[in-house]
Order: sequence, then C-alpha cells, then structure tokens
Amino acid sequence: MTEVTKTLCPYCGVGCGLEVSPPAQPGKATHRDSQGNPIWRVRGDKAHPSSQGMVCVKGATIAESLDKNRLHYPMVRDSLDQKFRRVSWDEAFDLITKRIQTVRFTQGPEAICMYGSGQFQTEDYYIAQKLLKGCLGSNNFDANSRLCMSSAVAGYIQSFGADGPPCCYEDLELTDCAFLIGTNTAECHPIIFNRLEKYHKRNRKVKMIVVDPRRTPTAEAADLHLAIRPGTDIDLLNGIAHLLMRWNYIDVGFIDDCTSNFPAYAEVIRHYSPEIVADRCGIDIKDLETAARYWGESQRVLSLWSMGVNQSSEGTAKVRTIINLHLMTGQIGKPGAGPFSLTGQPNAMGGREAGGLAHLLPGYRLVKNPQHRAEVEEVWGLKRGQISPHPGMTAWDMITGLEDGIVGLLWIAATNPAVSMPDLERTKAALMRSPFTIYQDAYYPTETASYAHVLLPAAQWSEKTGVMTNSERTVTLCPAFRRPPGEAKADWEIFAEVGRRLGFVGEFAFANSAEVFAEFVKLTRDRPCDMTGLSHEQLRFQGPTQWPHPDSGLEVNSQQSEIEISEEQFNNPKSKIQNPKSKRLYTNLRFHTPDGRARFGAYHSRGLAEPPDPDYPFVLTTGRLYGHWHTLTRTGRIEKTRQMHPEPFIEIHPRDAARLGISDNQLVEVRSRRSKTFFPAKITKAIAPGTVFVPMHWGALWADNAEANALTHPESCPDSLQPELKACAVQLIPV
Ligand code: SF4
Repeated sequence: MTEVTKTLCPYCGVGCGLEVSPPAQPGKATHRDSQGNPIWRVRGDKAHPSSQGMVCVKGATIAESLDKNRLHYPMVRDSLDQKFRRVSWDEAFDLITKRIQTVRFTQGPEAICMYGSGQFQTEDYYIAQKLLKGCLGSNNFDANSRLCMSSAVAGYIQSFGADGPPCCYEDLELTDCAFLIGTNTAECHPIIFNRLEKYHKRNRKVKMIVVDPRRTPTAEAADLHLAIRPGTDIDLLNGIAHLLMRWNYIDVGFIDDCTSNFPAYAEVIRHYSPEIVADRCGIDIKDLETAARYWGESQRVLSLWSMGVNQSSEGTAKVRTIINLHLMTGQIGKPGAGPFSLTGQPNAMGGREAGGLAHLLPGYRLVKNPQHRAEVEEVWGLKRGQISPHPGMTAWDMITGLEDGIVGLLWIAATNPAVSMPDLERTKAALMRSPFTIYQDAYYPTETASYAHVLLPAAQWSEKTGVMTNSERTVTLCPAFRRPPGEAKADWEIFAEVGRRLGFVGEFAFANSAEVFAEFVKLTRDRPCDMTGLSHEQLRFQGPTQWPHPDSGLEVNSQQSEIEISEEQFNNPKSKIQNPKSKRLYTNLRFHTPDGRARFGAYHSRGLAEPPDPDYPFVLTTGRLYGHWHTLTRTGRIEKTRQMHPEPFIEIHPRDAARLGISDNQLVEVRSRRSKTFFPAKITKAIAPGTVFVPMHWGALWADNAEANALTHPESCPDSLQPELKACAVQLIPV
C-alpha cells in the first residue's frame, strides 16, 4: 500500500493540510520513530489552500503519537476507588442507556450533561447535539471551545448579527498593517505567523503591531510591541480609537451607511485620552500614538487575536472593541482587512457550525430563538417545542452543577478538564462528587480518566472519516487511513448507538459519516455558514473548500468576494497568493443584524477580575509553548516535542527576581487564593515587571504541583461565559 492520504493536521485551528503515507513503501526503508517503531510518513500538503505545504513541529511529528497510550476497550467500575474492569461494548451501552433513563426520569433531562471538544469532527459534534438537545431534551452540551473562543463567538454575534470570522489567510499577505493582540501567533499558530512574517519581511512598508504583556517570539518580529499591563486591552483599544477620531482617520461614510450605535461609542472613547491610556496601560504615549498612526494611515488593517483576548472576564467587550476599530475606519469586507479570531482547536469552527456550545443549535442558530428551534425540530423530525428554550450548562456550570448535586450524569469526550479547567482543586473535588461520569477518549491514562466510572475507547483522527473547518472557514475532509486500535469506535458512532438503544432508531439510522454530514448541511441552508453545496464526495473530489458554499452551483454569492485581488498582486512572482477565489464575509457591507448594519459596542474598561494587591502582588498569565499541545496527551509522548520543552517553568523579570532573592532555576512556590504550585524560575526580561508567566500544559500525570490552572480562577465574561484563564493574582516565595 503506497497511496497518499490527504487530510488535515489535528492539532490547532490553523488547519494545515497533510499528506500521510504508510510506514513501509516499495523501494524505501521503513519509516520509524526515534525508538525504532514503524510510523506513518507525514508531510505538508502543498495543494492545501490554507497552508501551502507548510507544517510546524507538531504537525510533522503527529504520527509518533498515534499508537501510544491508547485506550483499547470499554471499561467500567462502580466507584472511583475501584479498579476498572474490561467489559464488552454491549455491556457498556447497556449500562449507559439504563443510567440515562434513570436520570432522565428521576432528575429530568437537564441533569444530563456532555462536555465535548474541538477535537471532534463535525459529524461527532452534530450527532451529540441531536442526541442531547434533540432527543433527550437537554441543552447541556458544552465543549472546551467555551474555554477557548466563546468570547469571539459572542463578539461576532453581537457586532455582526452572526458568528463567523470574516477574513481569510490570504489577507495575511494583502494587509498594510497587522494588529496582533493577545496572540502569541509565532508559537500557537505557527504557520499563520510564517505567512505573515515572510510577507512582512518582503514588504518593509507593511507594519506589524503586537500587543502582549510578554515579549514573545511574535513580539520580537513586530515593528511596535506594546507591552501593556494585563487587563488594560480595552483602555488601549479605546485610546487608539480616541486618536483616530482626533486625527480624523475615521470613515464617516462607512459609519453612516453601514453601522449603528456610533454616538454611544464616541461618547465612551472621548474619555480615553492618550495621557490616561498610556498611564493605565504602562506604555509610552509615543508608542500609543505610533499604533494609532499605523492604523490610521493604512489602507487595510488586519487584526488577529486569540486566547489573550478571549480568556477574559470582559472577553466579549474586548472582541467588540477590536471590531469597533474596524467599523470606525471601514476596515472590513475587503482584502487584507478585518477582524480575524484565531481558533485554538482544529475543529472548534466545525463545533460552532454544528451548534456545539450550550446556547447554540446547528447552522449558527441560537437556542433562545423560537424560529431557530422550530427549524431544527423540523429537520430532526421532533415535536414542536421538544428542544428546550433555555441555554444549557456551560463548562463551568457543569462543575458547579456537580457541587450542587444537580448533575446526574456527566459525559466527557475528547478533552481533559482535570488539567484545562480553571481552579483545578475545586474542579477535581467536583468531579469526585459526580454520581456517574462517562469518559470517552482515544488516550489512557489521562488526568480526567481518574474521575470516570466508565471509559469508552474513541477512534481518533486518522481512524475515522469526517470533516473539520479551520479558522478561515475552510472545510477539509479527513479520511480514515488506518484501523482504530482494539475496539475503539468513532465518537459519532458511540453517540448514535446510545441514541438507538434509547429508542431513537430512525433518528440515528446513519450508515456512515457521509450520511451524517449530508443531514447536517441541510441545517446550514440559507444560514451564514451555508454548506449545502458540500458533501464528503465533493470534498474528496474538489478538495478543501471555504464556506459559504451553497448548493446553487455558483462559486460566489453576495457574501463572498469575487475578484478582489488585483491582477498586479496575483501576477507578482513574489506574491504567495495562490487562491484568487478566497472568500471573505461582508464584502457587500451588509451584516446579519435586523437592519443590516454592524453594531458598535460601547464599553469602558473594567480590568482584571482579580487584580494584584498587597497580599498577591503579581499577575500570573498563562499560555502555550511552540512544541506542545494543550494537556500533553500527544506531544508529551513524542520524543522531539518533549525534549523541546521538558518541564514547566515560571518566567520572572530580573528586577522582581532580585527583589525577592530568586535565582535562575531556583524552585519558586507560587500561591494564589486557591492553591499553590512549584516551578523552577526562568529569569527573563521577556516578561514585564509585576507579571509572571507559566505554560498551561502540565497536569498531575506529568509534574508534581506544577499545574498552572490550580492557580487560576473561574470568573467569567458575562456574555460569553468564558473564564478568565489568562490572569490571576499570585505571590512568589523562593524555596
Ligand atoms: Fe498543525 Fe497548527 Fe502546526 Fe499547522 S500550525 S501543523 S495545524 S499544529
């Protein structure tokens, strides 16, 4: 077997195309990992429009993780102090369905919760929604995307009337000014950064502004690094707006014709003079002015952001305040310009499309909207009113629900909350109280498996066929190219079998994932994320495709750009532009709001939910490292990535370290109001005085007392309900 499978990297939302081929090929030595085990060959897919053949170290080494620490068989135990015993799928399904029925009839459907993942393929997400929200009548499906980009979702919906990043990767190579805020793109979305950095180096007139309290590798490449104090993003953004207004860089025609609520916004930004803003943010007035000038003098400004903005108790306000700058300068709906959120998980976008958060329904619909519920009920063949009108429990609600004893059954799939949730001691104590937890995952052991009553082995990427959507709305088919280990099954198959055993036989009569996808796309018809022109077959035939892609047969509709790239740009041999049909949203400058206008959001800065004080004088910020992925389930077991980042650490500014008597590599006790941890010190000027940084990857399986999220708190954005994982107050004690 020598054939090459085209698929997508299963790590991050950049969504790089991969070509995978078997370890043994005629005329070639068998491909092996560092321990000598045969592994699949992986390389970048040059034909993939999003990545053009590039991959980072995670994508390049993914094959090494495929067979390590896999869960092979269903296992159960009666209580958490017992050992697991292997059971058949039949026994496991029987146990689960009986338990669901018991909880349903004793506590009600709202006592059933599922916590899923952006690692799901769209088909997995979709079937989970149909089971929970449709058949069982519980909207308690939430995903780890709640911790990742739900503020971006809320911001887009409030500003534009619908979710959906308006831009595409080609904009990275068409912009005059890239404004990166709360994103260490170089490490967390490396291939996007590669494209931007190469373009920036080739075009010295192009400006790159990076806003981040750390001097990250991303900030190193910038023309202007604004190392603002954590929690002052809205001050900065309103301060830039104030100067744009003062210097008359605003697009009055755009504001008049295409937006609403500008007067309220103008009233707010009036209060953000450069003097006030520079003082609050801890930056020079000159730097603030330079940022405003770069923005105002550019024909096309592209904003990029990720967790530094979203993981905040004012996350939605931050997103909307970024969007405000685009609206006041008319920087949207054209090549090289617009607000562009970068997704964390590989298919968090597919989750949004399939309704994979507690307040959503498939096709970018909202649980609260009666018409949306009716439309979904019709496609699902349900009685009118069967879908509950109440948004379900979010990720953190499920933890507090366990504390309050209102959760009767918790089903966790493809995610590791015992490392990634905030306030881990509280999270773990709540998980201990769960009356019945099903944990469905590809890997074992994980930290979360310790809290499960039932373990279900899931087939992962490479072992099941489904689609994933990346940050630029490109949908890619990811075909199975190897058999799942042991008795592992695709997530959607597990959900569908439970549905059938609960009596919903017709609702889950799918022969394969292509049929699941075909039903899902019906629910996107005439919605912003219309994919009715897509099927597994078409994606296999035509390759990765951006939505909107309705089945009209036309490639272009009113929401997408037709010929927006000049001939000069396209014919320039130095240009990397390869896809003149890249689609952007809002090119017709009509938005999904009732009046078709984008809405300004008027927000004053509220700052951090837990600011530093004399007892806890430092702000701890957390983040990711280039070679690792989330909770190390894969990258912790790959030699190359493990060696790149062998252990956790805490970054401390030399001035703070000297004051506290901390030397390089010395163990430091880090205390927050919730817990304490220990990290070796890394003394560096990359972090601002008063702020410290810890990577979030290490859980209890990997390091003792070095879990970043033991320190963080769950205070959340009131609109997106996304916790403020990015900042909490700590004290440092040298050990
Ligand atoms: Fe995979 Fe993201 Fe790296 Fe691309 S940038 S290869 S999607 S981890």
